[in-house]
Amino acid sequence: MAMFIRVDVDQAVIRKTPGLAAKLAESCPVKIFKAAGDGVDLVEDALDECTLCDLCMQASPEGVKVVKLYEG
Ligand code: SF4
Repeated sequence: MAMFIRVDVDQAVIRKTPGLAAKLAESCPVKIFKAAGDGVDLVEDALDECTLCDLCMQASPEGVKVVKLYEG
């Protein structure tokens, strides 16, 4: 379980946009997303590597939300 970051994904939003799962997988510099048949999988081990770069939320403002689990 990640300590610092939670990534909420709305799989329905991802599914209805062709190519979005692959785009998320490509856009994340630390490879948190993996395209799967029915949306994206999250690579749990990579979650705490998140740099809060925002690229995933730019790729899908409605489908992805990165939540900081700490203050600072
Ligand atoms: S904010 Fe950046 S590093 Fe974090 S999950 Fe999104 S794309 Fe990956």
